[in-house]
Amino acid sequence: MAKTKLDDMKTIPQENIIWDIVVIGGGPSGMMTAGRAGERGKKVLILEKNDTLGKKLLITGGGRCNVTNNKKDNRIMLAKYKGNDQYLFSAFSQWNVEDTLDFFHKNGMNTKEENEGRVFPVSNSSQSVWDVLHNYLIKGNVTVQSNSPVTGISINKKTGFFDIKIKNGVTVHAKKCVIGTGGTSRPETGSTGDGFKWLHKLGHNIIVPDVSLVPVALTDTWTKKLSGLSMPDIKLTTYQNNQKQESHKGKILFTHFGMSGPTVLNMSREIGELLKYGEVSIILDLFPHLDFPELKSQLQRTLVEDSNKKLKNVLGKLIPTSLVTPLLEQAKIDGETFSHSVSSEDRIKLVQFLKSIPLHVKELLSEDKAIVSSGGVDLKEVNFKTMESRIIPNLYIVGDVLNIDRPSGGYSLQLCWTTGFVAGNSI
Ligand SMILES: Cc1cc2nc3c(=O)[nH]c(=O)nc-3n(C[C@H](O)[C@H](O)[C@H](O)COP(=O)(O)OP(=O)(O)OC[C@H]3O[C@@H](n4cnc5c(N)ncnc54)[C@H](O)[C@@H]3O)c2cc1C
Repeated sequence: MAKTKLDDMKTIPQENIIWDIVVIGGGPSGMMTAGRAGERGKKVLILEKNDTLGKKLLITGGGRCNVTNNKKDNRIMLAKYKGNDQYLFSAFSQWNVEDTLDFFHKNGMNTKEENEGRVFPVSNSSQSVWDVLHNYLIKGNVTVQSNSPVTGISINKKTGFFDIKIKNGVTVHAKKCVIGTGGTSRPETGSTGDGFKWLHKLGHNIIVPDVSLVPVALTDTWTKKLSGLSMPDIKLTTYQNNQKQESHKGKILFTHFGMSGPTVLNMSREIGELLKYGEVSIILDLFPHLDFPELKSQLQRTLVEDSNKKLKNVLGKLIPTSLVTPLLEQAKIDGETFSHSVSSEDRIKLVQFLKSIPLHVKELLSEDKAIVSSGGVDLKEVNFKTMESRIIPNLYIVGDVLNIDRPSGGYSLQLCWTTGFVAGNSI
């Protein structure tokens, strides 16, 4: 990612500065808020905990960023945010899909529409979206202070301004404060739910997402034969569009529909997020503690020890016996071959398979698969004409921090553009 003067900013002395607006969180919603406020001449600071802005934005849509959904009629668009349209109407009447498209087009990013109205940059790269927002911040003279995790917010009784504490001990002062810290999915991108804690402390009601730990159904029917098999020490790695996503190690359980067990349950939230943007596969490594040559040597030794037995009868020394036949079938290796006659090609194939069994996710087993509840600030507590909190004056809330159910297809980012613009326009 290209570094710019914004990312290279050093920590600036804050003691004597009172910012018009401090935006906490430099994701898409925070960048949009700051850019619009800066365009209006406000003195704006973004505090971002990572060393750069928009880490999650860059991985959206499998790296292609599904920037919005081409529903220009607000009523049709808002029907997608089941049950929340009454809140969103005033915000969308200020900034809707058409405004989003105009904004990106005017700023040099052409878009294209794909199935079900999904809009992507023509470049097929989320970096193009990032670049537009970044230039918007530069044009608006927005100051960005990265590597600045905020640890808490309070209202100064003397000044009435916000005191925003950063981990390094510095306190930042602001007349208005915007919370754009995101939700809790993909915490490695910086979204660790910090905003929820502060808002709860300040008196807001935070709705906790209900669907998070669920088993995973697979399209691979061969695993049905493994139903009931539990394996204690497996590495699972998720992939989307051939891009590696996340790895976890631990216990899995095969079931008649797919997989469960603690590791799979813990990964289900992540898998659910990925499913919103396309197909997900999982690669199983049955020997995470051995690299390829080590496992190959172990297999050689096992075959030599029982050289006059059939492969299908020997492999049970390395893996659970119920897994032997289905696995050999999948790997297309003849289990009737005597150990001494297993070809070098088949040995390599077998080791490769033991370290990377491909499985394909069908769905998460939950009651409501189409809509994922996001959790977040109760919408009744926010004025959607301005995005100001109804509980704390001068505090604004944007993006994923809000409890808005939405389907996949660019609807999440459209919420960031809309709520970000409305906040930046009204503060
Ligand atoms: C894998 C994946 C793919 C997705 N693809 C799409 C897609 O194609 N289209 C779509 O519409 N939506 C997509 N989404 C959803 C979309 O990414 C989110 O809706 C969007 O990023 C929310 O933006 P945000 O600005 O509210 O929060 P975030 O993007 O989560 O950004 C929050 C920012 O706040 C910072 N922050 C958090 N805590 C602190 C703190 N204490 N101090 C300072 N900074 C802090 C974080 O580091 C982060 O930079 C996807 C989500 C995932 C997980």
